Amino acid sequence: MSEAATTADSAHPCLSCGACCASFRVDFAVYEMQAMGGTVPDGLALDVNGSTCRMRGTEQVPIRCAALTGQVGQQVACSIYELRPAPCREFSAGDYACHKARARHGLAPLAEGTSL
Ligand code: SF4
Ligand code: SF4
Repeated sequence: MSEAATTADSAHPCLSCGACCASFRVDFAVYEMQAMGGTVPDGLALDVNGSTCRMRGTEQVPIRCAALTGQVGQQVACSIYELRPAPCREFSAGDYACHKARARHGLAPLAEGTSL
């Protein structure tokens, strides 16, 4: 889920989508875990290999991050938005991966010029 998709901005397209949070594995450095001084709540991720962690729910099929609330394509939120790991903060609404995720969930690409 991209930047600026805060609950204060209810018109943000990510808040009626969530497709990327239910399409891709979300892996990040173990140093992003709270236990290591980072922000991601420890219970919400799995250790992959000692140096990488993965958001729970994105290791399985169908993928759905454990931090995602709501219904994809309708109304969603990231329950750890301010604490989410780097891949989520770096994800860009409207780019190729966003279109791909939306397509997987039967959603049209974001229209050009969508306010993000
Ligand atoms: S797939 Fe795109 S529009 Fe949907 S939540 Fe992710 S970044 Fe936002
Ligand atoms: S942590 Fe939040 S933004 Fe990242 S995949 Fe999970 S629900 Fe989406």
